Amino acid sequence: MRFYFCTKRDISTFAFKILKAMVTQEVAKEIIDQSVFLLDTEEIPIQNCLGRVLAENVHSDMDMPPFNKSAVDGYACRKQDLANDLELLETIPAGKAPTLPIGLNQCSQIMTGAPIPEGADTIVMIEHTQIIEGKIRFIHEKTASNICAIGEDLKAWDLVLKIGDLIKTPQIPVLASVGKTIVKVYRLPKVAVISTGDELVEPDVKPQTAQIRNTNAMQIMAQLSQLGIAGRYIGIAKDSPESTRQMLEVGLKESDIVLLSGGVSMGEFDFVPSILEENGIRILFRSIAVQPGRPTIFGKKEKQFFFGLPGNPVSSFVQFELLVKPFLYALMGHHFRPTPLKMPIGVDFSRKNTKRKSYFPVYFSDSGEVIPVDYNGSAHIHSYVQADGMIALQIGESTLKKGTLIDVRQI
Ligand code: AMP
Ligand code: MG
Repeated sequence: MRFYFCTKRDISTFAFKILKAMVTQEVAKEIIDQSVFLLDTEEIPIQNCLGRVLAENVHSDMDMPPFNKSAVDGYACRKQDLANDLELLETIPAGKAPTLPIGLNQCSQIMTGAPIPEGADTIVMIEHTQIIEGKIRFIHEKTASNICAIGEDLKAWDLVLKIGDLIKTPQIPVLASVGKTIVKVYRLPKVAVISTGDELVEPDVKPQTAQIRNTNAMQIMAQLSQLGIAGRYIGIAKDSPESTRQMLEVGLKESDIVLLSGGVSMGEFDFVPSILEENGIRILFRSIAVQPGRPTIFGKKEKQFFFGLPGNPVSSFVQFELLVKPFLYALMGHHFRPTPLKMPIGVDFSRKNTKRKSYFPVYFSDSGEVIPVDYNGSAHIHSYVQADGMIALQIGESTLKKGTLIDVRQI
């Protein structure tokens, strides 16, 4: 087992060596980043924008708020008159312009969101007033101005969202507020999903002796859905070069990416790498120093990509999170960054083999610590049901003392 730690520049220089060796997660990420290009753009209605990535800068088309408006229901008046009983002029509902200016010892009733009448500098809350013989009396010790000033949130032409921003829920009302109803976004990648293995049956079939259910296909399709991508499931390729070749060709047709699981380690029936090469897919790495997920393959053919994920469900889940997800976002123009999160570990934790960086599932306790979930290894996908995130022990690192602050990757 050999490791190559190298810089960006070394990647091309030593491409040949890396091909044969295990690369670190960081180098794998660099190789992927260097291969990525931006997908085309399209214009879609705001209603369909959630989860997409902006391909244009968005500016405000007006001041926000667009006029001085009342923050409360109450009476618009002059602060200097607050000690006096005030004459009531009119009622200003939201959506209507005031018709009368406020003068000495005068006020107008005003609703939240309505424009402030000329002359007024204060809105007293209705709860802080009494009506005495038809006049309005302020009965509280003090008041704020309760006016939202024109342009206090945004000025016309302010940049509100920028190219590469992921459109999450808060971005939707911002688009709406500036009248951006048709939005330029990067198109979604077309992704084909293939499982491999003679032992696999589809989930609706009861496995016979020596068979297991194909869980990876549904898992990967679900991981894609979380990115808003509707994957195209091709099926299960048999452990034969003919079947694998045929499925791969179907997958490559009209797809930007093929995600294949299983058949990528060095077992007797694992011939995927040679079929990839036959199909003109240049393998950029085929093994990474990460556990679970060592036999992960990344390859490229002109504008198409290939990921070979390990067959074991936890391995393919983890490698999707670590490598495929940021890659898909990068194609869509977004720089994915896991939320930085450091938490103390709630128990002493150790592992034996320290040759690879290892990920372990953890849950978050009520007291704000991470607790490792019972985990039997890379086939044990059920352990992830309880997991809120993953922690990683670095190469050479064997123990974590209770209380150590550790980076957590939420899942
Ligand atoms: P492989 O990478 O093909 O050597 O497979 C490694 C392990 O993962 C084997 O135990 C396989 O049975 C299992 N495996 C492979 N593909 C799948 C799948 N689609 N769903 C569930 N388990 C799988
Ligand atoms: Mg297999």
